[in-house]
Amino acid sequence: MNTTSNIQSEVTQWLQNHWDPNRDLISWRSMVADSGWGAPSWPGEYYGKDMSPLEAAAVEQAFADFGAVGAAQSGVRMLAAVTLLAHGSHEQKQKYLRGILTGEDQWCQLFSEPGSGSDLAGATTRADLRGDEWIVNGQKVWNTSAHHAQYGLLLARTDWDAPKHQGLSYFIINMEQPGVEVRQLAQMNGHASFNEVFMTDAVVSREDLVGAEGDGWKCAMTTLANERRSFDRARDVSGRKDRQGKIFQDLAEEFAIANEPYTWYPQRAGRVDLIMPRARSTGAIHDPATRQDIARLHILAESARWTGDRAKAAAKAGKPQGPEGSLGKLAASNVARLASRVHTAISGNDALLTGPESPMDGIIAEILVSTPAISIAGGTDEIQKNIISERVLGLPKEPRFDEATFRNVRRNTGPAVDADT
Ligand SMILES: Cc1cc2nc3c(=O)[nH]c(=O)nc-3n(C[C@H](O)[C@H](O)[C@H](O)COP(=O)(O)OP(=O)(O)OC[C@H]3O[C@@H](n4cnc5c(N)ncnc54)[C@H](O)[C@@H]3O)c2cc1C
Repeated sequence: MNTTSNIQSEVTQWLQNHWDPNRDLISWRSMVADSGWGAPSWPGEYYGKDMSPLEAAAVEQAFADFGAVGAAQSGVRMLAAVTLLAHGSHEQKQKYLRGILTGEDQWCQLFSEPGSGSDLAGATTRADLRGDEWIVNGQKVWNTSAHHAQYGLLLARTDWDAPKHQGLSYFIINMEQPGVEVRQLAQMNGHASFNEVFMTDAVVSREDLVGAEGDGWKCAMTTLANERRSFDRARDVSGRKDRQGKIFQDLAEEFAIANEPYTWYPQRAGRVDLIMPRARSTGAIHDPATRQDIARLHILAESARWTGDRAKAAAKAGKPQGPEGSLGKLAASNVARLASRVHTAISGNDALLTGPESPMDGIIAEILVSTPAISIAGGTDEIQKNIISERVLGLPKEPRFDEATFRNVRRNTGPAVDADT
């Protein structure tokens, strides 16, 4: 059996033989993907090495210690990868996983609709099989990075006569086609990270149905469970500017584009790291009420970090997702909300200012208008509380009024578009 130190020496040896920072990024990552070191926990058949999460972490560490660039591992592409690995066909895994690891393909998640966000299973975007193609019509909304994406993870209704959770199917949709229109949405923090996506007779090939027809809810749960689990993972937005070579130039360019929608994500988490420096520099540290708020925030943030560490340890040990996903997400919301309040207490009216004269060049103001997002993205706080109460604590379930065939279920948007056809 491989020990982690054997693995690290094997990886280091491989890097010594192959690493060249003057290559271009995609050709390097193609080599990494084909070697299996880019995603060692994936099956050997699909660019991996069948390693345990613990062994895979040793590989990642060896890349970091060596200073070499690994496979593209951030963003929705990883949600696509875990979903395809769990439910995709052999052909889909062969076709799509490599472009995920090389970073050539960007992905977006096309789940939410104007009338179904929390009630995701109420989706009314429809896909109808005509010959060898699925024809898709409907609207999605809040789709992060859809303006950069080549592929979308699409949840659409394929059976209006099944109960609502059973009439959904999951597709890979090519975003670069005439039937798909992406419109960016302006946010109150001045960024435009997400989009509305309109699909009008958009085409999905029959081979791009993930799982079986009607398995959409099961596949979407895999995507969402991993989204919640990865909530506390920091994104590297540095672009490794300090490193020399073509590969690092390419990486910096990739970061600039791929991470543009996420530049405000540290602020939406509340920037607890800025609390003490701000309290000291403004003198608010001497205010007894503010000191109590700071202490409360640190207790909350530390306990949330431990929950995150437990989730990471469970993932490393290969354990299935436990309650930490929803608990961690809820804790992250509580921390961000309290941090925003404490920043306001420290900065006073100045917290509202933006521009060069403002506290921290507008960062404090950005925190105030960004933290609400964390209580909504990936499932709202209320939905996490429902999940925790029903699935973790075993409390009685919410009453349901949607168990009839979907055609006859009352919906947020009224009757479904063309539901009778
Ligand atoms: C930063 C960000 C990024 C996002 N990225 C994506 C993306 O890439 N792809 C995508 O598809 N979507 C994305 N979303 C959308 C997100 O998943 C939805 O906004 C979220 O699920 C809530 O849905 P909604 O906005 O329709 O609110 P609604 O579902 O209309 O909820 C409105 C309010 O009602 C409450 N509520 C609803 N149902 C219940 C209930 N049963 N019990 C108690 N309270 C309830 C909610 O908690 C909320 O307070 C993103 C959102 C944000 C903020």
